[in-house]
Amino acid sequence: MALDISVEVHCGTCGSANYSLPAGMADEAPIVCNDCSDRLGSVAELKAEMIGQAQAHSAEALRNQLDRIGDPPPA
Ligand SMILES: [Zn+2]
Repeated sequence: MALDISVEVHCGTCGSANYSLPAGMADEAPIVCNDCSDRLGSVAELKAEMIGQAQAHSAEALRNQLDRIGDPPPA
């Protein structure tokens, strides 16, 4: 089960913002670009980038999305 992330974090290789993140994934797990399959960084790195953007844009909805990433998947 994947959780689609809609923040503006772009792949450094192809520039795509198209990637997905399994729910409940560990912070050290890799995030992979859906378009070129390059690694975008770890979950922890992506969270840090997203938090930075959330602070910049005051995106309350994004904060709620970040909170859900750390939850275990439903049984
Ligand atoms: Zn890419």
